[in-house]
Amino acid sequence: MNTISRRHFLKLVGASTAMAASPTLLKAQTATPPQVVVVGGGFAGATVAKYLRLWRNGDVAVTLVDANPAHTSCILSNLVLNNALSLSQITFNYAILQQKYGVTTVQGQATGIDGGKLLLEDGRSLDYDRLILAPGIDFDFGKIGVQDPANVLHAWKAGPQTTELQQQLKTMPTGGTFVLTIPPAPYRCPPGPYERACLVADYLKKHKPGSKVIVLDANPKIIAEEHTFTKAFNETHRGYVEYHPGVVITAVNAGARSITYSENGEQKTLLASVLNVLPPQKAGAIAFDLGLVPTGQNWASINPLSYESTLVSGIHVIGDSQGTGQPKSGHIANAEAKVCADAILRAFAGEDPDPAPTTNSACYSPITADTASWLTAVFAYNPSTGAMEVVPESFGEAPSATQDNYERMFDWADNLFADTFA
Ligand SMILES: Cc1cc2nc3c(=O)[nH]c(=O)nc-3n(C[C@H](O)[C@H](O)[C@H](O)COP(=O)(O)OP(=O)(O)OC[C@H]3O[C@@H](n4cnc5c(N)ncnc54)[C@H](O)[C@@H]3O)c2cc1C
Repeated sequence: MNTISRRHFLKLVGASTAMAASPTLLKAQTATPPQVVVVGGGFAGATVAKYLRLWRNGDVAVTLVDANPAHTSCILSNLVLNNALSLSQITFNYAILQQKYGVTTVQGQATGIDGGKLLLEDGRSLDYDRLILAPGIDFDFGKIGVQDPANVLHAWKAGPQTTELQQQLKTMPTGGTFVLTIPPAPYRCPPGPYERACLVADYLKKHKPGSKVIVLDANPKIIAEEHTFTKAFNETHRGYVEYHPGVVITAVNAGARSITYSENGEQKTLLASVLNVLPPQKAGAIAFDLGLVPTGQNWASINPLSYESTLVSGIHVIGDSQGTGQPKSGHIANAEAKVCADAILRAFAGEDPDPAPTTNSACYSPITADTASWLTAVFAYNPSTGAMEVVPESFGEAPSATQDNYERMFDWADNLFADTFA
């Protein structure tokens, strides 16, 4: 990280303060101005709350509800594992959204709706004209035979689990095995698991020679930046990563750190020193509870022009929980949030949504402690299919992992964090 970007980066982060849950803010709200309630204060939810206020000069009331007092970013969280960053450097409180943009922030767990009211677990309720859900992901433990879900160490929602994984890596015996499982796509952050395998291998090489990362991938091959990660596994981290594609996990005993799977028809069991299981993923529970996920599917069905549910009108879903096929990344969640905010403001003004929205995604992946690669793509609405589709000429990958990319990664993250939380 260069001096300027590190200074800026550190300015954005800092001590977390609890979200204010002032009783006056929770009073029943009047019919004007229009009321928007947002569930989830991650990359999608915080952005939509900010831009609804910013673009309407404050002439719309916005309440942001999150279960936690602050948001810990998954983006850059793999760098906590090798001690390059601390968790507090990627934790953002909601004070700026409240102070600078007038977003009302409420800490609470949303559990359901009742005739234009969002219900919270503690009995409070919030009136809305439009409801936006941005609850991220939930896990499908049953699909891989997990006996004890509470013990599963995924660190795929950043926070205490990230610290626990960092600790287990630190205390892992020399010569031990770090087993990492990758779920079938689609899942949160396509290159993320391969990036984690690289950073853990890099750490083991320096601190625990002779140890190994065993990657059990449910997908038939590396699904993002194939060239970069193949090179990283076979050359940069040669001897430290063992990659197994096409694996079907059948049983997990997280407490005992044991995993059973089949590979090429053969049943195998591994005992790991550290067992890092990324379970199959689906939309946040509230999207299922509100009937926004079609039967038998995993993600909310929405109209990509507005992110309004195709199943329940007046409710929008953005970020990882939506099912348009766009990648589940924080960068594109921020872009979806702006399309959604614009569509809702147009609807309040009696106008149709923008008929040609575009979004974009970018992921930087550290490959070692000082090199990184990147991946980027632009998506555009195709009126003939009604889908968001990748613009072929926009798709790009770093030709190789470099130190320059590693530096730029912090500038990119800096901008995204500021655009979302500041
Ligand atoms: C290791 C890792 C690396 C990554 N790297 C990148 C990267 O380089 N680039 C990139 O673009 N993306 C990256 N991602 C992906 C990115 O973090 C996610 O795509 C992004 O966080 C999704 O944003 P979201 O707003 O949909 O969900 P989240 O950011 O998960 O936010 C969801 C919020 O909703 C809240 N919530 C959920 N349910 C409720 C409820 N019922 N009531 C109240 N609150 C609720 C949660 O507390 C949470 O704060 C990475 C992810 C991981 C795990």
